[in-house]
Amino acid sequence: MRMNKQMKIPFHKPFIDDNEIEAVSNVLKSGWLTMGSKTFEFESMFAEKVSARHAIAFNSATSALHIALALHDIKPGDEIIVPAVTFVATAETVRYFGAVPVFADVERDTHNISVESVKHLITDKTKGIIPVHYSGLPADLDPLFQICREYGLFLIEDSAHAFPSFYNDKPIGSFKSPSVFSFYANKTITTGEGGMLTLYDDAMAEKARKMRLHGIDRDAWKRYSHDGSWMYDVTELGYKYNPTDISSAIGVEQLKKSDYMTRLRKDICRRYDALFSSSDLLDLYPSKEGRESSNYIYPVKLKLESLSISRDYVIEELKKRGISASMHFIPLYRFTYYKDFYESIGRKNDFHSFPNSEYIFEREITLPLYPSMTEEELEYVADNLISILSEKSK
Ligand SMILES: *Cc1c(COP(=O)(O)O)cnc(C)c1O
Repeated sequence: MRMNKQMKIPFHKPFIDDNEIEAVSNVLKSGWLTMGSKTFEFESMFAEKVSARHAIAFNSATSALHIALALHDIKPGDEIIVPAVTFVATAETVRYFGAVPVFADVERDTHNISVESVKHLITDKTKGIIPVHYSGLPADLDPLFQICREYGLFLIEDSAHAFPSFYNDKPIGSFKSPSVFSFYANKTITTGEGGMLTLYDDAMAEKARKMRLHGIDRDAWKRYSHDGSWMYDVTELGYKYNPTDISSAIGVEQLKKSDYMTRLRKDICRRYDALFSSSDLLDLYPSKEGRESSNYIYPVKLKLESLSISRDYVIEELKKRGISASMHFIPLYRFTYYKDFYESIGRKNDFHSFPNSEYIFEREITLPLYPSMTEEELEYVADNLISILSEKSK
């Protein structure tokens, strides 16, 4: 492999072609831009894809998480357990209710919420748990469902990474728990910005549909009036969280080719695995029996004990070679807002409570991964990473 040629490798590239461009153009020409038939088509395609009973589209996963939580009775001071290693949206939506996001440590290998840690955090104020399917590998749902049954808690899946992922051969999105997917620009499929809430419960689905659009209920009026075209009632406190048909048109095209995109992602990850398999300076992300990952991202961990450098140095060196790497995630307890918040309620929130989250924070690097990545590009990334590490091995 020639290492002297400099390449430019972005962290991510959306997989967009003329189909999305034409679909968007058709919506723009149609005269109907906001939520309408394209969004309903996107919802039913998505529901079918993940075997969900209801799929409700939103303008982001964050707003879908907000509404998923709003379907439960959450009061200020209630506690919701979330993993410490996640994107901030998982915790901030809990704060919208004045409730306390209680951070659980994660598993050292999968970076998913640790069931043991969850058990220790349950109090009489605990209302629910929001596991995150990190990188698309499902969290261990069975023991979490068991805990929820035992203590009467709700479970909402943060499935932002998990389209399409499987737990015990069942698609994420098909369980009875509300599940929230993201279509942010770098997620496995994108609508630019967007999200989806899947639900099993019919009454919850009806309420969520109203809450995403001002709490408006047109059906309520139909019962009393024959011409209900402009009449409506407002039956819930609602929000302005609907997507547009412009974004949903992109979603429909992304779904049509999602099997192909998934296959490309998997092939790239297996190629990375093979190129790194002989390195004793890296820990590769594990696979788990009975769980299938969407392969949203490709995380690796540095074996710092055999290296004389830090995670920051490696990301900086990759950048010098034209490679954009990232880190997933800065543990939430490290952020000023959450430090201040925990201090304000007199709760201990120190780094020693999260040995695995800290372990991961010091070592994790996320490598570039996108469906159109070429063999030459991924070899360039792998060769450069291996050479940066071998130069600094102890
Ligand atoms: C991306 C992401 C979100 C938020 O998704 P948006 O669509 O940007 O609101 C939530 N949780 C996790 C774990 C994410 O990675």
